[in-house]
Amino acid sequence: MLAATEHEQVTQIRMSRYPEAQPGTRVSVYLVDGLLIDSGQAHTAEELTDFLKDREIRTVVNTHYHEDHISANVLLKERYGVELLAHPLAINRINQPATLYPYQEEVWGYPIPSQVKDIGDSVTTPHFHFEVIHTPGHCDDHICLFERKHGWLFSGDLFVGTRPNVARPEENQWQIIASLKKVKDLMPRALFPAPRGAKVVTDPVPVLEKTIRHLEDLGRRVTGLNDKGLSPVEIRQKIFGDEAPLAEFTQQQFSSENLVKSYLKTGKPRDVITTGA
Ligand SMILES: [Zn+2]
Repeated sequence: MLAATEHEQVTQIRMSRYPEAQPGTRVSVYLVDGLLIDSGQAHTAEELTDFLKDREIRTVVNTHYHEDHISANVLLKERYGVELLAHPLAINRINQPATLYPYQEEVWGYPIPSQVKDIGDSVTTPHFHFEVIHTPGHCDDHICLFERKHGWLFSGDLFVGTRPNVARPEENQWQIIASLKKVKDLMPRALFPAPRGAKVVTDPVPVLEKTIRHLEDLGRRVTGLNDKGLSPVEIRQKIFGDEAPLAEFTQQQFSSENLVKSYLKTGKPRDVITTGA
């Protein structure tokens, strides 16, 4: 399914392999002034490409290498000759996609390898200028795009809601907190998220502050319990109770235990906690 909504000059395109009633499997991509931010999953690549046939599209930016953000790249390049851009760390990963877990194959599908170029510091379209903001944490090649004049922040998978209770194994919550602070300091006036049915957020600064506070509180609890000698499973049980139902469906790729572990990674900037929101 595919559904489009307009927000100022930005078109939000929500897509899923399944009917709209299953919001957990939706991904949003955004079209603004010939620039497409993310290209979605393989199962909707054909539908998205057809939807764009009467619209202007010159450039596709992938916010990161995950398969639900890159999978119409090849089709869009073949059909419309678009330029493909991403962070340098994402280039090889998009060119050689990793093996997917069965749930990823079922929900998103396999991306065709595509050749993307280094995005550099900014992307300019006829009417707008988008700054590239490196925002690691969800993964290390993650970027957001910021249009300063309008205060638009395209946040990819950086913001997933104010109270996340699961994480992927590669996530680092301390980096996510630092990245959320970085984009909050830009004082965005609208936030355009990609994941699972998330809605466009108008007046996002208080929402980002609330999320940062929550993640920092959670970090204090996790590290405090870790300092007392509790294992990640024991910490998860104390804070979240039994494992989230999503964990079994995703072969433990999205789990509360991962969220706990993401606070315990070595090299974490613990001073993130003490510098305040
Ligand atoms: Zn992602």
